[in-house]
Amino acid sequence: MAHIFFDHISTTPLDPRVLEAMMPYLTERYGNPSSHIHDQGQQALKAIDAARAEVAGLVNAKPEEIVFTSGATEANNLAIKGAAQAQAKKGKHLVVSEVEHFSVLNALLPLRNRGYVVTTIKADADGKVDPDDVRKAIRTDTVLVSVMHANSEIGTIEPIEEIGQIARDREVLFHTDATGSAGHIPLDVKAAGADLVTLSAHNFYGPKGTGALVVREGVRLESQIDGGFQEMGYRAGTENVPGIVGMGQAARIASEEMGEWFSRLRRLEKRLRDGINSSVEHLHFTGHPTDRLPGHVSFWVEYAEGESLLLFLTLHGVMAASGSACSSNLKGRDEEDLVASHVLRAIGVPSDICTGSITFSMGKGNTDQEVDQVLSVLPGIVRRLWEMSPTYLDYQKKVLRGG
Ligand code: PMP
Repeated sequence: MAHIFFDHISTTPLDPRVLEAMMPYLTERYGNPSSHIHDQGQQALKAIDAARAEVAGLVNAKPEEIVFTSGATEANNLAIKGAAQAQAKKGKHLVVSEVEHFSVLNALLPLRNRGYVVTTIKADADGKVDPDDVRKAIRTDTVLVSVMHANSEIGTIEPIEEIGQIARDREVLFHTDATGSAGHIPLDVKAAGADLVTLSAHNFYGPKGTGALVVREGVRLESQIDGGFQEMGYRAGTENVPGIVGMGQAARIASEEMGEWFSRLRRLEKRLRDGINSSVEHLHFTGHPTDRLPGHVSFWVEYAEGESLLLFLTLHGVMAASGSACSSNLKGRDEEDLVASHVLRAIGVPSDICTGSITFSMGKGNTDQEVDQVLSVLPGIVRRLWEMSPTYLDYQKKVLRGG
């Protein structure tokens, strides 16, 4: 059975060119960048500086504005907690959207416990945040606005340039989580007026365990890890040199090839979306119809549970995601969180069917044949699930009665 990977929003495969660039730093070039007095240390330092320039180039930042982290989760924590703590004298109010990833939402919890107040901005039915709502939410004691660039679960791209402009006019820091978008759609941190931007290497064909926070020159943050003075004092600990080299190479490749990937993925997305639309009834696409990540198709089907759909797809070799990959794995939360995605709830999907969503996210290696293969199995899977669904049978009876 052929395996089809349609879950690129959770992670992407490592580009072989990235692995090739990393290999020397996993083998013969093992120096610690802080030991730059000798040759091994020098090589490592040069390599991370080169990677810093590549990552900066991807998003139009300056190399000295790139702080390498262990990934997006750490970058989001540093941005939210670090910015809030560094500005505690100015105020203790933050503004975030309700569709943020848990690494933003949960980073707010310890702040709330310490007296910070958070205003949560609603998203509309397409998952879009209205910049005017951000404007209205900002107060004199607001220290940070955080709105993601693109939503992983429903694909919607947020109006970050307008939001950034509002934050700048009001002299409030603006953070955007660009985990799902960086390397896939153009991102210019200057044009977006963003002071803090989260990036993740494994989301654009780089290695896992490496990310970055773009910290605009002049922005003050409180470090969240105590130790040495690596990464301009923002992130203590010996750098993950192979990971950083890989992220640099992945950023270089994305800068050069993103345009090509984009057109290909838009075409595959249309083929998949049109095919699903014409072959599956009672289907609701989620997210914005046009302002969305390329290659991202998300939907829910009435009377068909998302997890079951996912399972049957897996049996046909198709790997996708149901709701948010991260939220379907929550521990220690209340029951509703265990079953319902906060993003789907936010965009008004009825809560009894909130577990029912599917996210297909394609990558640069996917083909038309794979799209057709998915389209050839999906309607049958949905029909099979309906046949097992008491609510669907009730619905059919009603239709037969003409009710
Ligand atoms: N932000 C967003 C939007 C995400 O989708 C994710 C999960 N891929 C993260 C942050 C956290 O990323 P990681 O688990 O790689 O740290």
